[in-house]
Amino acid sequence: MRLTVVGCAGSTAGPDSPASCYLLEADDAGRTWRIVLDLGSGAVGPLQRYCDPATVDAVVVSHGHPDHCADLAALSVLRRYGPTKELDLSPLPLYGPAGLDRRIVQIAGSEDEHDLDPFAFTPVGDGDRAQVGPFALEFARAWHPVPAVAVRVTGPSARGGDSTLVFTGDTDRCDEVLELARDCDLLLAEAGWAHSRVNPEGVHMNGTQAGTLARDAGAGELVVTHVASWVDPKGTLELAAVAYGAPVALAAPGETYVL
Ligand SMILES: [Zn+2]
Ligand SMILES: [Zn+2]
Repeated sequence: MRLTVVGCAGSTAGPDSPASCYLLEADDAGRTWRIVLDLGSGAVGPLQRYCDPATVDAVVVSHGHPDHCADLAALSVLRRYGPTKELDLSPLPLYGPAGLDRRIVQIAGSEDEHDLDPFAFTPVGDGDRAQVGPFALEFARAWHPVPAVAVRVTGPSARGGDSTLVFTGDTDRCDEVLELARDCDLLLAEAGWAHSRVNPEGVHMNGTQAGTLARDAGAGELVVTHVASWVDPKGTLELAAVAYGAPVALAAPGETYVL
């Protein structure tokens, strides 16, 4: 599997990155399969550097905050008015918490609901599973002010066998996400709270919490993401590395991880 960071800015798009968006690719059965994890504000633009967003195999959206889902409306426009409109493509599988499909209509501001036509939406929650080509997906409830899920993706490893990625979406530390992340090869963990200040419960992790999650889960590698563009990531990374007990990486647009 290859993970490409399309956008990683936390809370809003930043000057150097769109909001949350990650492309996961794997070669299997003679073709390349693609899943997009989150389509936050601004993401559909640079996603086009790596693939045709209209023809990906599935989109998984962690929750309905704009920095994770706003560009679903842009993808709907691409599908209905871009070059692929001639191709009679089947609806694009979309996975997310119940009610996520309504966000597309709200963002589009439409009343005819055609913005939903390009998608085949499946609501997912704690313990749900799905299969997209060679990717096995498993979902867990995340702890956030709106319904939110984290996702575990198991797929063909570049080194043979399978490898596993876990993406936390937005979440405070919780047992469901810890269990989902158990023994994963790469943990893509949000650290939306800056540094170690005491923060409100049930929203984000800070660097220490992301590092502790990776350590407790036995994650093979930790990539920290969702740092707001106005936050110097240095302190967050240092705290994450201390808690994890090993170096950690900071997600950056265009960065690719092979797992
Ligand atoms: Zn967010
Ligand atoms: Zn959020």
